Formats: sequence, structure tokens, C-alpha cells
Amino acid sequence: MKRYISLLLAALAALSLAGSAAEPPAGAEEGRKYVALTFDDGPHPQYTRKVLDTLEEKGARATFFVVGFRVEKGREDLERMVKLGCEVENHTWSHADLRTLSAEGVLKELDDTNKAIKAAIGREPEFFRPPYGEIGRSVLRRIPMQEVMWTLDSRDWSVLNAGRVTSYILNNAKNGDIILMHDFYQSTADAVGPVIDGLRERGFALVTMSTLRRLEKLGEVSIRTPWTHYLKASPADSASVEG
Ligand SMILES: [Zn+2]
Repeated sequence: MKRYISLLLAALAALSLAGSAAEPPAGAEEGRKYVALTFDDGPHPQYTRKVLDTLEEKGARATFFVVGFRVEKGREDLERMVKLGCEVENHTWSHADLRTLSAEGVLKELDDTNKAIKAAIGREPEFFRPPYGEIGRSVLRRIPMQEVMWTLDSRDWSVLNAGRVTSYILNNAKNGDIILMHDFYQSTADAVGPVIDGLRERGFALVTMSTLRRLEKLGEVSIRTPWTHYLKASPADSASVEG
């Protein structure tokens, strides 16, 4: 299994456009813990760049759920995400509450965003995350994409304090966690470096969503909710979840 994982990660690294930003091979060690950092709501005209600066400096990867109408202006950020081995996924066109739209409206939000992302980076997303973590079940069945929620909500949009966001993540991260953050706040951009350092000190390797999914299929991580619908960190938080 260990050898297979090493080969898998080596193959994934080879696919990256930027070899220097690849996950270190040490990330494939047996018994290693894995988490995926995910950033929603960008690209932001200032803070996304700061997050990317830190990811580049640390040689770390993350997954960005971008808002479609912001993609054209943030095209350079999206191109850089790809160069750094990060993944660009779909967070709808207008950050609408999808429960308020018709099925056709929901499909258009996702399709328009997929087209904008493809125009920017030449690749359509594999995953989508509904704003506020909310979507009607009947619509969900019609969407030909994998929905991804999160398993650890940093609450960065509410806390707005880099130190508190960092300590909350480091005190709560578990193997297989999908960590929710937003590249839309100065405090979050400031937290990214300490979060990456702290997670690595605690034995976590940082992987993208598609890598986490492959690791789950190989039995290397156990994600606490099924892939068809990643639940939020706590149902009790749903009233205050920004998504
Ligand atoms: Zn959002």
C-alpha cells in the first residue's frame, strides 16, 4: 500500500505544472495524516494573492471554491493556483442561496461558473460547494458534479482574528478533515502561514480535494461523512454558517 501511495503521489506531482510546488514525497509515508485546506468566496482582489504567496513560500497546496462572477477579474490568481498545484472548483456564479432558485436556476449558476473557470484555466471543475452549505436534495440529484462540504469550519469569517482562527484549526484538525476558510479576509490571509506550519508540525500533509478523495478510496483516510454530501462541522452551527 505504501509503495502504491508513493507512486500515486509521484504521478500526481508529475501532473502539476510547477514541480517546485509539489507535495514532498514524505507526505506519502504510511501512518501520515492528511487534511485539505479549502478557501471559499474568492478570488479577492488583495487577499487571494496573499494566500497564494504563502502557499508558494511554504510549498503547500489548497483547493479554491471560486465565485463565478469574480473569475474574469481574478484570472491571474486562478492561473497561479494551477501553477502552484492547487485546485479551482465551483462555488456558484453569484453566491446565491440555492434553495431560493429553481432547478434550472441552480444548474445555470453552476454551468456559467464552470464555463468561466474553463475560459480562465482550460479545465472545468470536478467539485462544487453550495453557498451556506445549502441546496435542495432534488436539485442535487440533477447536478453532474461532486458536491463537497467541509468537516472543520474555521469560522474565520466570524472570528476575524488570525491567532484565534489558527489555534482553533490546530486544536481540532483530524486525519481526513476538509477545512473551511475564506480567502476574503486579511485575518485569514495572515492565518494561512501559521496554520500550514502548525498542521505540518502535528504530522499532517496538506493535499487537494481530489488527492484526499483518492486517499480515501485507498483507505488511507476516513472522512467522517459520505462523499455525496459532506456535512457541516456541526448541525448546530448551520444557522451561523457562512459557507
Ligand atoms: Zn461562500
